[in-house]
Amino acid sequence: MDDYPRTLMEFERRFATEEACRSYLVQLRWPEGVRCHRCHSPSVWATARRLYHCTFCGFQTSVLTGTIFQDTKADLRLWFRVMWYVTNQKSGVSALGLQRALGLGSYRTAWTWLHKLRVAMVRPGRDRLAGEVEVDEVYWGGVRPGRHGRGAAGKTLIVVAAQADGRRIGRIRLRRVPDTSANALERAVQAAVDPGSVVRTDGLHSYRRLSARGYVHEVVRKEAVLGDNLLPRVNRVVALFKRWLLGVHQGAIHPSHLDAYLDEFTFRFNRRTSRWRGKLFYRLVQQAVAVEPVPRRVRQHQPAVA
Ligand SMILES: [Zn+2]
Repeated sequence: MDDYPRTLMEFERRFATEEACRSYLVQLRWPEGVRCHRCHSPSVWATARRLYHCTFCGFQTSVLTGTIFQDTKADLRLWFRVMWYVTNQKSGVSALGLQRALGLGSYRTAWTWLHKLRVAMVRPGRDRLAGEVEVDEVYWGGVRPGRHGRGAAGKTLIVVAAQADGRRIGRIRLRRVPDTSANALERAVQAAVDPGSVVRTDGLHSYRRLSARGYVHEVVRKEAVLGDNLLPRVNRVVALFKRWLLGVHQGAIHPSHLDAYLDEFTFRFNRRTSRWRGKLFYRLVQQAVAVEPVPRRVRQHQPAVA
């Protein structure tokens, strides 16, 4: 059973102290017992300064070492409140919204924290989609997203994969690709979809070798132009993604940060039917202690609204 608070009251009771937050991180990071961060030895003892001294190599590990919380000077209780808030807003939150809601010192702090949390939303070694999967590409062009034909200059290209769940949409994957070449699109499909699955695409020539790559390739339309809604799931995901970027983030996304937003959208979408928002909180904390720290010098974009 995953162990997470169900309600705000439960959350407040449980994470009232720094020590309680720290213990939760220890529990999620090392469910089978603390290990040395450097040599992975389980032979460690706790020091008075909340470190784990490795009797094998002498390294001292903190539960924050190697996580997105490494080097943080802030109180863990504040981090926990931010993670709770971020996962309980169904559509997510902008940096400005977060700064206001939790009284963070500056827009810059709010933005950096959100960016670190987005990085944690990518599950390490996450499963690929399987079964029947629709695949299509979409262009992202800054403040005016849209599909303006293939090869549109100066735009970012995203491959969207949506798994069918009966008539509904199952899980999704979104991934930036450099161009519409066969190599780029095949790599994207291979990263997102298990071989042996049915992959439905339009008639774009670059998809022609998918059968040779081990997929059951179905072409749903002959012309590589926007036509009837023959890929309904993937089109729906694209529409929701655009609305989300424009609504929550005002579309003001620097292209170099787009990957992080793709991850956040995917994280939220794939858990949209979770009955308990606390479960998203649990996953986020779990992944936050499982990833490497974000490089310190993260380029920041400007506030989207004045
Ligand atoms: Zn060690």
